Amino acid sequence: MYYVTCKLGEEWEPGVMQDFQDLAMSPAAGVINYGQGLFEGMKARRAPDGRILLFRPELNARRSADGCRRLGMPPVSEEMFLDAVYKVVRQNERWVPPNGRGELYVRPLIFGSGEILGVAPAPEYTFLVYAVPVGPYFKGGLNPISLKVSDEFHRAAPGGSGGVKAIGNYAPGMMPSKKAKAEGYAEIIYLDAVEHRYVEEVGAANFFCVKDNVLYTPELTGTILPGITRLSTIELARSLGYEVRETKVDIEFAMQADEAFCAGTAAVISPIGKIEHSGKVAEYCEGEIGPITRQLYDALTAIQEGRAEDPFGWTPSV
Ligand SMILES: *Cc1c(COP(=O)(O)O)cnc(C)c1O
Repeated sequence: MYYVTCKLGEEWEPGVMQDFQDLAMSPAAGVINYGQGLFEGMKARRAPDGRILLFRPELNARRSADGCRRLGMPPVSEEMFLDAVYKVVRQNERWVPPNGRGELYVRPLIFGSGEILGVAPAPEYTFLVYAVPVGPYFKGGLNPISLKVSDEFHRAAPGGSGGVKAIGNYAPGMMPSKKAKAEGYAEIIYLDAVEHRYVEEVGAANFFCVKDNVLYTPELTGTILPGITRLSTIELARSLGYEVRETKVDIEFAMQADEAFCAGTAAVISPIGKIEHSGKVAEYCEGEIGPITRQLYDALTAIQEGRAEDPFGWTPSV
């Protein structure tokens, strides 16, 4: 793992590579008392020719810096963030599975590690990056998933931290998600907290639906996490000639769509087979994967896994 600390008001200095290990922290560390911290998530994949590819890691660097500013933490520069990620992937190269058999998931963390009892930014910060090999996020590969709209819980409110990968955003979603899983659903769909009408996210992935060959995805209003898979799906779909609208997506509209899927680093592109909302059920493509979902999945994963040419320059090799 890569590890470095920085005092509030100072600049980050380059960190060191060390064995994966426990951290020593004061019980008064800002992160464990007040949740001052964020995470990132990215995957390194092995191409058929043996190269190890990342996917648009500079966007993770920029998003983490934006998040640091929102949470009162010193932003890690893009250069240092990328240096840390590349070092961790290189030194864990033996854990990158063969092509098509999984990925090395890379987890950067930035958090307030200094002691602070008052509710204020911590006096010291830690930036670290570790990695772990992973298989598919939703069990069963490209099988359509069943989702349930939550009528009880919201993920984020306007003006809050929903647009940041703030660690504190995730614990409140665990119990709703666990309950949905116990009922046989793969995840929860969250609606907006103001009108309880517009789709926001699918757990920790972004939502898309397709109607009459046009793609729709919730616009970024600050309550939705600006996913890199979301952005790449939009750009890829447009390059394939599809119209993509970033707009408010009414759940009633989504229930009438031809296809639906979610997108994220962990979920990649996962087709949605069924959505339950207030006793009504929408089924997409009679259990088959929709043709546009399938096309986007094939095109995106071929680029990410180095099986196709990457005309966008999205996949630097490590
Ligand atoms: C990480 C995340 C996503 C997906 O973002 P990617 O950059 O595509 O991995 C979507 N929603 C939430 C809430 C997330 O935390």
